[in-house]
Amino acid sequence: MKVTDYIQNSKQTLFSFEILPPLKGKSIQSIYDGIDPLMEFNPKFVNVTYHREEYLYKEQGNGLLEKVSIRKRPGTVGICAAIMNKYKVDAVPHLICGGFSKEETENALIDLQFLGIDNVLALRGDPIKTESTFKAHPNGHHYASELIHQVNDMNHGKYYVDDIKMAPTDFCIGAAGYPEKHFEAMNLKTDLIHLKEKVEAGASYIVTQMFFDNQKYFDFVKACRDFGINVPIIPGLKPIKTLNHITFLPKFFHIDYPEALSNELLKCKTNEAVAQVGIEWGITQSKELMAQKAPCIHYYTMSNSDAVKAIAKNIF
Ligand code: FAD
Repeated sequence: MKVTDYIQNSKQTLFSFEILPPLKGKSIQSIYDGIDPLMEFNPKFVNVTYHREEYLYKEQGNGLLEKVSIRKRPGTVGICAAIMNKYKVDAVPHLICGGFSKEETENALIDLQFLGIDNVLALRGDPIKTESTFKAHPNGHHYASELIHQVNDMNHGKYYVDDIKMAPTDFCIGAAGYPEKHFEAMNLKTDLIHLKEKVEAGASYIVTQMFFDNQKYFDFVKACRDFGINVPIIPGLKPIKTLNHITFLPKFFHIDYPEALSNELLKCKTNEAVAQVGIEWGITQSKELMAQKAPCIHYYTMSNSDAVKAIAKNIF
């Protein structure tokens, strides 16, 4: 079933979360171990992120360098199929532009349709570590809006590879939104222009980047509505878990902590203390979002569901 249908059919705020495919060498059980503790909260869908492999150059001993792929994670298609089969819940694969040609994207979409997957979250992806700016595949997409166009074309029977009308797909397409603006955007206004392009290209809902100040989400929703972006906007929340997160999350995700939260974090000396603050903050944020009738709250587990479970126990 489509994410938008779940939202439309529910009078209450829904619960959803996303998981990260494990690094190569781990088994599917490590994914189940992350999902099992959260199934009691009745998620309607589970997102599966996609991560490009990274490369390093290894000396071969003869003066030549060998390009070696590292940090490879299994692809999302098989993981989504396994999740849907085991839990009877909708899986939402993340599709990215980076590293993919249009033909490869089309082939992935054909596989997803074949498996009965109804939803995709369409993203550009970040630059890989060896690139200072995002570089599209020579025959790929530069922006998420172009990827969304491709999926939407398939939803209208227009495939990229075969220039003939084929059976249309019926994917519900989600896009990313940034309450604190995307880090490359000149300002919130230009980011909203491009967000609207994604909706006009066929995205029928938005999931936000994590934020720790609900007011930023409320302001973002209002700005979107004022700008004519009228699709559901699902807030994304991430519980802070470790001392390292205190600096890593703002740096990596380009978000700020509100002062009340940073005051609490400044008192923390251990990971356990940070995790406790993260859970309490997540509960407070979730309660307020629910009271304000957020369509769904989407939790970023980042491979660790304990804190999300502790929050969900108090909310759902
Ligand atoms: P876009 O919408 O393409 O925007 C990227 C930038 O380009 C923005 O600054 C935008 O304003 C600008 N822009 C857009 N269109 C144009 C245009 N036509 N002309 C000029 N500028 C333009 N990354 C992963 O690698 N894997 C994941 O699984 C993943 N999941 C995510 C899930 C969510 C909910 C979110 C919020 C992010 C996720 N990301 C993921 C990160 C995402 O890929 C990065 O934030 C990336 O830098 C931008 O992706 P986007 O889809 O928002 O890009």
